Amino acid sequence: MTEEQEVIAVDGPAGSGKSTVSKELAKRLDWDYIDTGAMYRCLCLKALQSSISVEDEDSLVDLLNDTTMRMSFKDDGLKVFMDGEDVSKDIRRNRVNQQVSKVAALPGVREKLVEKQQALGEEGKVIMDGRDIGTVVFPQARYKFYLDATLDIRAQRRYNELQQASEDVSFNSVVEEIEERDATDRGRASGPLKPAEDACIIDTSDFTIEEVVEKIMEKIEAKQDA
Ligand code: C5P
Repeated sequence: MTEEQEVIAVDGPAGSGKSTVSKELAKRLDWDYIDTGAMYRCLCLKALQSSISVEDEDSLVDLLNDTTMRMSFKDDGLKVFMDGEDVSKDIRRNRVNQQVSKVAALPGVREKLVEKQQALGEEGKVIMDGRDIGTVVFPQARYKFYLDATLDIRAQRRYNELQQASEDVSFNSVVEEIEERDATDRGRASGPLKPAEDACIIDTSDFTIEEVVEKIMEKIEAKQDA
């Protein structure tokens, strides 16, 4: 058996609380945080800016080969840079939300981004959130969590975020967008959204972020003591 890697994999659907929980864990443990969704989002944003179809696999792989991505996680939060430019806000816009899962369904795109993610996590002491971290990117991760919540609660969280970013969207359109994105993420052949067999599944619907972080910390400490 391959050795376990010092990685905490946090997977789950949109709005399940993955990124907020992962950032808090990173602060507590003083580990690095990698948001893999941001990488798919960067490529989607660049495709939209370059008028390249989000379904044109060859052109998107070429575009990816021609793109640099960097993340920096500090006290003031996560910053995402694409080709040297801070795109942290642009990649969260609604038009990216609506198209990103199409980009992420392309096997050629996934192959390249999974490689990048594996390289980023190679040194260990990293918390990585996404859809396929525990199943594909780091199947040997020491800790695997899969966060979930009801559709209504996930949509409400996303709606609140978009409101804060002054995006003009209706709650129903957010429900539809999340449902559609989840269906594409779950249904794709390459790296579909699903819990790893050995993941700890947590339904975050009735918990605060703080409570979820506490639960995860307890699991991590229990495993460290074992
Ligand atoms: O996590 P976030 O919602 O920012 O991810 C945006 C999209 O990127 C997801 O809906 C999914 O299509 C894709 N994604 C993925 N694999 C990952 C992370 C994100 O397919 N590891």
